[in-house]
Amino acid sequence: MNKELIEFVTQLVSNENLLMHEPMKNHTTFRVGGEAEYFVKLPDVQAFCALIKRFSEEGIPFFVLGNGSNILVGDKGIPGFVLDTSAFLTDITVEGERITAQAGALLSKVANTAKAQALAGMEFASGIPGTIGGAIVMNAGAYDGEMAFVVESVTVVDANGVIRTLSNEEMQFGYRTSILKKEAYYVLSTVLKLQTGERAQIEEKMADFAARRREKQPLEYPSAGSTFKRPEGHFAGKLIMDAGLRGFRIGGAQVSEKHCGFVINVGGSSAADIVDLMDEVRERVEKQFGVTLEPEVIRVGDF
Ligand SMILES: Cc1cc2nc3c(=O)[nH]c(=O)nc-3n(C[C@H](O)[C@H](O)[C@H](O)COP(=O)(O)OP(=O)(O)OC[C@H]3O[C@@H](n4cnc5c(N)ncnc54)[C@H](O)[C@@H]3O)c2cc1C
Repeated sequence: MNKELIEFVTQLVSNENLLMHEPMKNHTTFRVGGEAEYFVKLPDVQAFCALIKRFSEEGIPFFVLGNGSNILVGDKGIPGFVLDTSAFLTDITVEGERITAQAGALLSKVANTAKAQALAGMEFASGIPGTIGGAIVMNAGAYDGEMAFVVESVTVVDANGVIRTLSNEEMQFGYRTSILKKEAYYVLSTVLKLQTGERAQIEEKMADFAARRREKQPLEYPSAGSTFKRPEGHFAGKLIMDAGLRGFRIGGAQVSEKHCGFVINVGGSSAADIVDLMDEVRERVEKQFGVTLEPEVIRVGDF
């Protein structure tokens, strides 16, 4: 990376927010991954926009990180810059039935804010360990709720550094997807439109969802949640279980015994272990049932 570029970044974000050779295993829920060449803790929206513009113009590789709960970072790490939204872009404000949240705000915090204000609609998201930005890109969902049902608008920056606000319709939400999977737009913030509800009921719903997660999901191990998308007409976990793969292990990566839809890191897993396990699972399920499993987890960096 040339000196002038590093000076440009340092001026925008200050020395302490620019880290070199940062281990990505410290920033992913899988707890695996090599180093980010440069890791930037974005201090504000201005720096975010200026960096996106400059990197896009000059073809400098970069990756926008939320909470790292839906990614698998390769053992050889991420070349270029990782732009971390989760350190400082975390503001949450409430006005009537609307919550405005910055990209790096955690879903659990937004859901708790909604609960405190007796606003219903975000209960489904309280146990999803991601940020608003990551959840919007993926249209994260659970228990019959999804981001598409609560998002009123999303403010994004494009590759030219231009800020625009997209309506719910313009976001083109679908199952685990949105326009952000196709276009080079990066989430700055969102406005969520919720409904006035009963605080006790909201609390009860959140507690029920949390209990169901604890009972069904291997939350005691590092993972990235559901490893594969739900294939039409099937459940990935059931197919994997029926293929006899419950507990199947390669190195430190294992098909969870508690929920076969989760690949977990049982200790010391490499990204390569997880990739090998996912490939093997896909192959065996395809062979036995003719169903192709599509990964939900996003691969990032060099493997
Ligand atoms: C135990 C566990 C349970 C889970 N349960 C669920 C569940 O019930 N439902 C569900 O949908 N998911 C679930 N997940 C997956 C994950 O939590 C969600 O997909 C979450 O929304 C990802 O958010 P993140 O901030 O961690 O994104 P990251 O993993 O950091 O990033 C995911 C993608 O979003 C992009 N991105 C992040 N922020 C921005 C931004 N500001 N602008 C543009 N792009 C951005 C990244 O570049 C990347 O491509 C679970 C994961 C775990 C570990």
